[in-house]
Amino acid sequence: MRVLLTGGTGYIGSHTAVELLAAGHDVVLLDNLANSSARAVSAIRKVSGREVSFIRGDIRDGNSLDGVFQTHAVDAVIHLAALKAVGESVAKPDAYNDTNVTGSRRLVERMAAHGVTTLVFSSTAAVYGDPASTPITEACPASPQSPYARTKREVEELLRDLHRADPRWRISILRYFNAVGAHPSGQLGEDPRGVPDNLLPYIAQVAAGRRERLDVFGDGYPTRDGTGVRDYLHVVDLARGHLAALDYIRRSPGVALHNLGTGRGHTVLEVLHAFEAVCERTIPYRITARRPGDVAVSCADVSRAREELGWTATHDLQKICEDLWLWQSSHPDGYGDDHSPTSTLGVSGNDSASSQRAKRMPSS
Ligand code: NAD
Ligand code: UDP
Repeated sequence: MRVLLTGGTGYIGSHTAVELLAAGHDVVLLDNLANSSARAVSAIRKVSGREVSFIRGDIRDGNSLDGVFQTHAVDAVIHLAALKAVGESVAKPDAYNDTNVTGSRRLVERMAAHGVTTLVFSSTAAVYGDPASTPITEACPASPQSPYARTKREVEELLRDLHRADPRWRISILRYFNAVGAHPSGQLGEDPRGVPDNLLPYIAQVAAGRRERLDVFGDGYPTRDGTGVRDYLHVVDLARGHLAALDYIRRSPGVALHNLGTGRGHTVLEVLHAFEAVCERTIPYRITARRPGDVAVSCADVSRAREELGWTATHDLQKICEDLWLWQSSHPDGYGDDHSPTSTLGVSGNDSASSQRAKRMPSS
């Protein structure tokens, strides 16, 4: 297949591109570089040993989308492009609606116009909000708590309506839990700008000496050691989940919904100590107040993905830490600062990019 990845130069998109190429598919990347670097494209080529097309464009721009579909015979789309910082979404709900909802609407409209009706959509465990119980099954009611999560929920509904109106659509909605780690080659990884929002990139930067210590957001939760529990999924496992989902919807028309996680949870301190063991240094931390909006435990029930997609995560926390440490230590500045708006590679000055990192709020 020829697969179009919107948001293809981003963290999850770049790893998904490598897995698609390894499986023999052709890949077209579309990204406006609002939160990623064009250098990810060469990293994808290097790791996969294959050519990949990259178009710098915006999913909100119908002409740009038409150009992509006219130039490339796309069979399926994996739609990852989005703004994803929960804190920023509270401050800028319109921007989140515009990119995440209007952008998705425009994309499916242009897909339909070009006869492309196979779509995998990146949703999030954040649509569950604070669930009554864990592990969380797909039957658990959605209760999104932030503008970001609400945009994802709205797109899920939009996709269901689309299929009701035209049953030719084959749609997979994937609700990701916490995507972490990096490619085992050390060539691809997450490249947070400014202060990382998320636990693992933050720990990695403390280990590398770029930050003084980790703030652990609360130790009074009803968990093993009082710190929050999350389901951390290696980004390569997550990337492979997209291939399994594509395969599934090609066999089973309709709208599919799957959690992608490991089914196992780790506390903040467990993650910290696992990382210490891998990098062989002490990671200073202090306990601080809870972060607003955090839940005690978020863990996926992954039985549906296992049974229907034949997919399970194979990487454990140690492998996550090893691969992240390899990426962090070999790329202390990520892909470099070419994604600054003033750089010669010329990334658009979308203010979301800088401000996404300005607040230390939960993301995704
Ligand atoms: P990311 O920011 O690295 O990737 C998103 C990409 O979309 C970026 O490269 C960005 O430049 C691009 N983009 C943003 N607006 C665009 C637009 N208007 N047009 C074209 N491209 C645009 O984030 P990620 O972690 O790779 O997340 C990918 C997807 O997965 C997102 O939809 C996110 O909401 C979802 N998700 C991520 C996580 C996680 O843990 N990282 C968890 C749940 C869901
Ligand atoms: N966390 C923390 N310090 C940080 C970042 C995160 O203690 O600097 C905790 C957070 O409270 C949560 C877990 O780590 O319990 C995972 O947070 P992250 O932001 O990575 O993911 P999310 O909240 O979106 O699940």
